[in-house]
Amino acid sequence: MTSTRTGDRIGQRPIGPYERRTAEVHPWDPRTVEVARRVSALINDRRPDLVVEHIGSTAVAGLPGKGIVDLSIEAQPGDIPGIVAMLYELGFGPQPGPDPWPPTRPMPVGSFDLDGTTFRIHLHVQPIGGDMPRDLAFRDALRNDPELKRQYTELKEGITHGGAVDGFRYTHSKTTWILGVYRKLGYAPPAILPPATIGIIGGGQLGRMLGLAARQLGYRVAVLDPDERCPAAAIADELIVGTYDDLEAARRLAAGSDVVTYELEHVSAPLVSAIDDGRVPIRPGPYPLKITQDRIAERRFLEANGIAVAPWRSVGSVEELAPAAAELGYPLRLKATVGGYDGRRQVRIGSEADLAGVAIPAQMLLERELDFEAELSVVVGRGTDGVCLPYRPTRNVHDEGILVESTVPAGIPPTLEAEAQELAGNIATAMGLIGVLTVELFLMPDGSLVVNELAPRVHNSGHWTIEGAATSQFEQHLRAICGLPLGAVDLRAPAAAMVNVLGTGDQRGASLDGIAAALDVPDSHLHLYDKRAVFDRRKMGHVTALGGSVAEALGRARDAHARLSWAATPRSTKHG
Ligand code: ADP
Ligand code: MG
Repeated sequence: MTSTRTGDRIGQRPIGPYERRTAEVHPWDPRTVEVARRVSALINDRRPDLVVEHIGSTAVAGLPGKGIVDLSIEAQPGDIPGIVAMLYELGFGPQPGPDPWPPTRPMPVGSFDLDGTTFRIHLHVQPIGGDMPRDLAFRDALRNDPELKRQYTELKEGITHGGAVDGFRYTHSKTTWILGVYRKLGYAPPAILPPATIGIIGGGQLGRMLGLAARQLGYRVAVLDPDERCPAAAIADELIVGTYDDLEAARRLAAGSDVVTYELEHVSAPLVSAIDDGRVPIRPGPYPLKITQDRIAERRFLEANGIAVAPWRSVGSVEELAPAAAELGYPLRLKATVGGYDGRRQVRIGSEADLAGVAIPAQMLLERELDFEAELSVVVGRGTDGVCLPYRPTRNVHDEGILVESTVPAGIPPTLEAEAQELAGNIATAMGLIGVLTVELFLMPDGSLVVNELAPRVHNSGHWTIEGAATSQFEQHLRAICGLPLGAVDLRAPAAAMVNVLGTGDQRGASLDGIAAALDVPDSHLHLYDKRAVFDRRKMGHVTALGGSVAEALGRARDAHARLSWAATPRSTKHG
C-alpha cells in the first residue's frame, strides 16, 4: 500500500497534532493496525535500529477501547532525548495534561490520517529495564486468552454506562484488575523489604512517627530536613540537612534510599522532578504531591472528578477580590495557594468591611465559609495492587484552624461512613496514589459531604490509629509504599480519642510538667515529639485514649491532657 496520506502532506510533517478528548469506548477498528504499521515505518525511515511495538487495546483484535494507537519503543536511557527530538521532527508533540510521564520515560503524542479518519497516537519511549516487557506480555496474554479478553471487554464496557461515580468505580476496578493480571504474569513491582532504607522528606513529628514504624519493621531511615535537631533526627540512621528546595540534598537522599516518601506536601516541584528519574520509586507519587500542594489545582482536580467543594474563586489581585467576594457571598475564607497549614496563611473575611485590610501577594483561593455540622476525615491506604482500605471516619474539632481533638467512631450513620470511605478510596484511585491519603471533609446539615482538603500522607487526625487500630496509619503507609499487603484497619476498642498537646506562651525551651499525673489516667498514652522549643499553639505532642464509648475515651484523653502544662522555665537536660 502506498502512503497517499503521507504524500498529501509534502512539505508538512507526517504526524499531525494531538487533541484531548473525553474517554469513550468504541469497538475495535482494524484500521488501527495499518496506522501502527505506517507510523512504525516513518520512524524506521529515520532510525532503522529501533523496534516499534504496537501495544494497548488497539493491538488486540476485537478488543474495544478509546481507539488510541499506542506504540512503544525501548531504548538506552542516554538515547531517549535523541529519539524524542526525532519524533518531534516527525510532528509528535509533548504529552498534554497535568500528569505527564517524566522525561526519562516520555510519551510524545500525535495523530495520523488514514483514509480521511484521524487516529490519535501515544508513543511510549521506555528505558531498557522499564515496563516494556510487561506491556508486551499483557498484550500477548490478551491476544492469546479469550477469557481474559472477555473480562477486559466487560470492564471497559462499564465506562459507557453511568456518570462520575460509576466512572470512578470503573477506573478503580480496571486498574485493580490490570494490576492483578500483571501480577499473574510475573510483573508485580518487587516488594521493598527490610533492611531497605526509607527516605523521608521532612523530619517533623509525622516523619518521626513514620520512622519509628519503619524501625519496628527493621527498615533503615534517611531523613531530609532543614533542621539538624528536627523531631525525626533522633530516629534517623542518616539525616541530610537541606531545605525542601535543595536539589543536591534531595539527590543524596534518593541515592541512599530504596523508596522516597514525604511527610509534608510543601516540597518544591523541581525537587521532586529532580529525583523522579525512575530509579527510586517516589510514593505516594509526584502527581498526588503536585495536586495537593496547590489548593487551586486541588480544587480543579476534585471538581473534574465530580466531587463537591465549597464555592470558590481564584484571586490574583486586590482589584479582583471585591467582585469575587460579591459573587460568592459572605462569610469567606481567603487561603494562600501554597504553604498553608494548621490554619496559617488563611484569613476570615466576615463581611465587606473586612476587605479593606486584605493583601493579595500571590494567586489565592477565596472560598465560601461553610456552616458545617461537623468536620470529618478519612485516612485511606492504597497498595501497589490498587486495593484501597479506608479507616473508620474520624470526627475532628479545630480551634482557629488547628486540630485539637479527634474521636472515632464519628457518630454518623453507617451509610454516611461508607459514603465517606468510598469517596476517599475514589480520590486515592483517581490520583494513582500509593501510600495513605487523608481526606478532610465537612458534613453539611443536609447530610451531604464536601471535601475541604487533601493530604497525600499520614495525618494528625489519624494519630489515634497507633493505639486505636489494628495497624497504625504509619505502618500502613510503609506497607503500601513498600509493596506489602495492607494491614487490618479494625478498631481495637469500641472508641478512641486523641487530644493534641499544643504549646502555650512565649518561645522558650520545652519542658512539660504533669507527665506522671497524665500517665496515671487509665488506657491513655502520651506521645511527645521532642521539639526543643515551645511556643503558643505549636504542635508538641498528643494524648490518645481508648474507651468503651466516645464519651469515655474522650473523657480520659481530656483528663490526661488537662494534667499537662508547659513549664515557665525549662528543666536542664544532659544533652541540651
Ligand atoms: P490547613 O491546611 O491549615 O489545615 P484548611 O483549609 O484545612 O487549612 O483550614 C483549616 C480549618 O479551617 C478547617 O479544618 C476548618 O475548621 C476551617 N475552615 C477552612 N475552610 C473553611 C470553610 N470554607 N468553611 C468553614 N471552615 C473552614
Ligand atoms: Mg486542613
